[in-house]
Amino acid sequence: MKLLEGKTALIFGLANERSIAWGITRAMHEAGAQIGLSYAGEALERRVRPLAERIGCTFVEPCDVTQDDQIADIAAKAKEAFGQIDILVHSIAYALREELTGPYYNTSREGFRVAMDVSVYSFVALARAFQPLLRPGGALLCMTYYGSVKVAPNYNVMGVAKAALEASTRYLAYDFGPQKVRVNAISAGPIRTLAAAGVSGFRDMYRHFAEIAPLGENITTEDVGQAAVFLCSDMARHITGEVLYVDSGYNIVGVPEIRRKDA
Ligand code: NAD
Repeated sequence: MKLLEGKTALIFGLANERSIAWGITRAMHEAGAQIGLSYAGEALERRVRPLAERIGCTFVEPCDVTQDDQIADIAAKAKEAFGQIDILVHSIAYALREELTGPYYNTSREGFRVAMDVSVYSFVALARAFQPLLRPGGALLCMTYYGSVKVAPNYNVMGVAKAALEASTRYLAYDFGPQKVRVNAISAGPIRTLAAAGVSGFRDMYRHFAEIAPLGENITTEDVGQAAVFLCSDMARHITGEVLYVDSGYNIVGVPEIRRKDA
């Protein structure tokens, strides 16, 4: 029997083939889950529909997570299509481009609000909207990054947002515990996606990552997908409120040493 056989997963945050959400979608599909997909808005539809077709997914719905009515709408549609769901994946983040460069103290009030609203509050809002639909044994999952606990230059307000997202993961895990629904986060190493392209200096940081990480390799969306399957499967049935690093061990290194390939 496959790990997610008989489970229904709703995945938010698919933009294109490079999205972490796509790595998770494929892995969950291969693990036997029935998949529903959500994307930010009309502009992305022509990219998302063909991907959905590749895995035979027919539930493909827009949802701008800053809009409460759109969240209520997709929850109603999911109820109609699936009755109950087992897994909800939040793979969404956004900050104004000008906030992802230069000193953190230049963060504007509006930039702070937008980053927190789209990247953090949306997880809380989705959790609330889907709470009545979540089956016992279910799981919520969100995506975070190491910039939440250590300074990653230029990541700025997104680092602060990820800290809030990780704290939200713990508070939600507490709330959902009695319902036997688990809430976890994956902290992924850098991956070249649309969202990552907005962070200044990302290319250099990506390049040096493999030289510093104990496993000496960058990670892929497939790696995140496999970890997501584990965390949302019954194999992880007593794991909740955790942040699981999928980063080739990068986060355990206190004093980096550049290890050259020819050394
Ligand atoms: P991506 O650009 O493919 O995904 C980000 C998604 O957020 C997109 O699908 C976008 O449409 C969606 N989004 C933005 N605003 C939205 C809104 N208002 N409503 C609904 N959706 C909205 O990039 P990604 O790297 O796959 O990012 C997915 C998650 O992974 C994010 O939380 C990101 O912070 C996290 N993450 C990424 C990396 C990395 O290096 N790429 C590392 C660690 C964590």
